[in-house]
Order: sequence, then structure tokens, then C-alpha cells
Amino acid sequence: MFLVYFLQEVFSSSHLIFLIIIKRFGFKPILTGKIVLLGVTDSVIWRWSADHKYSAASAYGAMFIGSTSPLGAKLIWETRAPPKVRFFFWLALHRRCWTANRRMRHGLQDNDTCIMCLQASETLDHILLGCVLSRQVWDMLLSKLGLTTVVAHGDVDPFLWWTWARRRVSRGSRKGFDSLLMLCTTMIS
Ligand SMILES: [Zn+2]
Repeated sequence: MFLVYFLQEVFSSSHLIFLIIIKRFGFKPILTGKIVLLGVTDSVIWRWSADHKYSAASAYGAMFIGSTSPLGAKLIWETRAPPKVRFFFWLALHRRCWTANRRMRHGLQDNDTCIMCLQASETLDHILLGCVLSRQVWDMLLSKLGLTTVVAHGDVDPFLWWTWARRRVSRGSRKGFDSLLMLCTTMIS
């Protein structure tokens, strides 16, 4: 016991002490649970909640620690678009839609040319914003809304464009803008 105190004082590292104990005494004391550090008996502590007590909610929350979500992912569920449209948009945002390009990468087809324009590879970005036919739809829609300043030009990530464009819309109209954009996105694809 004195040895443990001494090492803790010298090295201030429980991890190092753990390794030293294993080297000195082997695994047996650990397996039998007889090691006592600083006079406190080991106990099981649930580290994922403030009160150190297990709950299903804290276990569920722990699964998402360190995870990230794409820009705008939370905004999807605040719009007025129908659930199936929001779900499609969520899939698209996570790049989970089966485009010709993705099918070709998975060996499901030989050609990934866009069937709308026959000019480029059919990627998600191309379908939603890059294709000449998609651009015509967006131009018509945004012109009707008086939002010609947010029309996308060139190859742009559609979701970056969305989060940029919605900030150019008045705060009170953003939910409507998001909903309309999602409906139009679903219609194009
Ligand atoms: Zn196209």
C-alpha cells in the first residue's frame, strides 16, 4: 500500500501506477479486485451522466458523443415540408441517394451519364443544382419569388448553397423558403 502512495505522489499518474502494479504483482490482484488506491475501494461509476447513475437516456446520448452532422441537418425538421420530403432531403444531405454515379461505383451499371442532359456524370450535386435542366427550374422558381440574387452559378454544393441562400431571405420567410426548396429538390430528383 505504501508503494502505491509513493508512486502516486512521485508520478501523479494512475495510468503509470496501474502498469507498474501489473508488472510487479501480475494480473491476479486486479482480477480478484483486491487493489485499493488511496484508501478508497474501487466502484463502478457511470460516467455519462452528472449523477453517475445509469439511465437509458444517458446511454443513448453517449452513443452520439463526438459525432457530427452535416450543416443544416437540424433545420430540415423545422420546415413545413411533408415528412417524406424532409426524409428525402435528409438522405440527400447525407449523400445516401442512389444516383447513376453511385450505382456505377457499386458495379450496378456501366454508364453514369445524366439522363436529363446527357452531358455530365449524374451525381447528386449535378441532379440538384448542376444540371442545365435543374438550373432552369431553380431560375424560374427563384425569379418568381424575387430572389434572383441567390441563383446559383457554376458548380456549387447544393447544401452549402441552401444554407447560404436562406440567410439572404428575411427571417420570417425562412421556414417557407426552406420548405419550398425541399419540395422543389424532391420534384427535380
Ligand atoms: Zn444533367
